[in-house]
Amino acid sequence: MSTSTGTNGVDHELVAAAAEVARTRCRGDHHTMAAAARARDGRVVTAVNAYHFTGGPCAELVLIGAAAAQGIYELETVVAVGDRDRGVVPPCGRCRQALLDYFPGLRIIVADGEGLRSVPVADLLPATYVWADHQLDAG
Ligand SMILES: [Zn+2]
Repeated sequence: MSTSTGTNGVDHELVAAAAEVARTRCRGDHHTMAAAARARDGRVVTAVNAYHFTGGPCAELVLIGAAAAQGIYELETVVAVGDRDRGVVPPCGRCRQALLDYFPGLRIIVADGEGLRSVPVADLLPATYVWADHQLDAG
């Protein structure tokens, strides 16, 4: 666990990393969201979304590929931050599902009226479909 983990288990260093990318790298309508992930080995990976009307990926999905491109396949925590000082933004439904399927034990940093909280990704998808449970030919 990171030494920067603060109240409510929030990895504030990770939030700061996403906020920095949102502030410095997001441009116009193409890149409006940044995301950061803490890998199991402690490394931080960042990404921005690639908006396109055909369904360009959110920052969280780009993050999965960016991590893999660095040889990182185990993510522990993810947070997304919007551009123009929008702060922490929760993942959309598609990303919740994808993140759960890739990293069942992942934690997501979300904002609510009380501030930031770190919650298990499964808590964001109650009674969810788990893709791996339905691959009947596997094994
Ligand atoms: Zn999304």
